[in-house]
Amino acid sequence: MVIEMPENAKKIISLLTDAGYSAYAVGGCIRDSIMGITPDDWDICTSARPQEVLSVLGKKNIIMNGEKHGTVTVFYDEPYEITTFRTEGDYADCRHPDKVTFVNDLREDLARRDFTVNAMAYNDKDGLCDYFSGQNDIEKKIIRCVGDPTQRFSEDALRILRALRFSSKLGFSIENNTSEAAIKNAGLLENISAERIRDELIRIIDGKYAEQILTDYTDIFETIIPEIRPLVGHLQYNPHHIYDIWMHTIKVVVKSPHGTVPRMAALLHDIAKPLCFTRDERGTGHFKGHPELGADMACNIMRRLRFDNKTIDDVEKLIRHHDRRPPANEKNVRRMLYDLGRKRFLMLCDLKTADARGQNPALLKEKIEYIEKLREICFKELSNGSCFELKGLAINGKDLLSLGIPKGKQLGLTLRYLLDSVIEGDLPNERISLIDAALEYYRSEFLSADKPAELNKG
Ligand code: ATP
Ligand code: MG
Repeated sequence: MVIEMPENAKKIISLLTDAGYSAYAVGGCIRDSIMGITPDDWDICTSARPQEVLSVLGKKNIIMNGEKHGTVTVFYDEPYEITTFRTEGDYADCRHPDKVTFVNDLREDLARRDFTVNAMAYNDKDGLCDYFSGQNDIEKKIIRCVGDPTQRFSEDALRILRALRFSSKLGFSIENNTSEAAIKNAGLLENISAERIRDELIRIIDGKYAEQILTDYTDIFETIIPEIRPLVGHLQYNPHHIYDIWMHTIKVVVKSPHGTVPRMAALLHDIAKPLCFTRDERGTGHFKGHPELGADMACNIMRRLRFDNKTIDDVEKLIRHHDRRPPANEKNVRRMLYDLGRKRFLMLCDLKTADARGQNPALLKEKIEYIEKLREICFKELSNGSCFELKGLAINGKDLLSLGIPKGKQLGLTLRYLLDSVIEGDLPNERISLIDAALEYYRSEFLSADKPAELNKG
């Protein structure tokens, strides 16, 4: 087997081997190459210790960022991580090895890696080094732990989520023993930092094969986000729905566009439904208030998982508005554009589409037509240059100041009044009309009748 490596990876490997060390490309890049996928990055492993790597490659392009764990990063156009062969000692807490021990043997280094498909190395001289049948597992499309799965998951519980991630990305099934051990040991994830869980979760739900994983490993998702538990098997008793809440949620996730915000919004959009569930006298199920409560719950969950504020804010807004269905007209679209902004409005349309597609197919057509109408009006409003935010008004704060309206709350409220009137279609977005309306509003709201206004109209 010949694997085409980038010139710079070859150069690093040959510099190290010429100096008497062994060196290989390793891990994900080998897996991807065998599968015919272009790797994102090329990791290198070597018998040279970090200080030796430094003396072979020279100080200039090297960052000694993980020397203790044996990793240095060298910049040859792109960054390459070079990691010294190592084994990992005992894992007292299911996450950090108590110590890493540098070794001289490639096989020992490959044995500490998580899955057989990730435990192969390659260089031009030795060809493919595959001690754990990784190539065979790629052919059979299987994720399998190197060694005993229970032991490997107890060493580092993050591997449980990594198994789900690779399966979701590659469409491989998780080998039986590995799968059983993953489910059995999911509780160990409590030892893993929220940030690492978050990063894996994002990649799992963004994978091309996420539907299978979300369906088969529900227990593991409940462990990460306990709020999911009441969704599972919760019937909806509503003609719009043919799935229980969790199955519906899974459909919406996989029908949503890729990306952290759309997929997280989909995952959590109905998270409050069980808490808001009621049935009327005819037995029909309702979930009044679930978007608002769900938005709040999503904030809590995402804060707990240490998502950044911008992502939380986007997801929160999408969930809050996901069930809004005003008549599709210009005024309502401008209102929604005001509440959400252009980008999020379009994301909301995507979420609504995915949501509809995860419901009763018999009622899908009209829902899709409605959302298309919203999109169409939005594009028309945008291309007309319609105003839906303060900076789109044909007048600004300075203009109002020069009319004599004082800074602060009064000016703010006047601007807000003008914007509302324009959004509602009660006022054209033109300077003269806006000035007249501003003065009239200011006089009637803030100036008492006995004290005539001293305002400059001009
Ligand atoms: P991707 O293409 O998604 O980056 P990758 O296989 O390169 O996938 P990384 O997280 O970049 O994944 O890790 C690089 C390699 O390091 C893996 O292929 C695997 O051999 C090893 N590895 C990473 N994390 C662990 C872990 N928690 N336990 C054991 N081995 C690991
Ligand atoms: Mg990688």
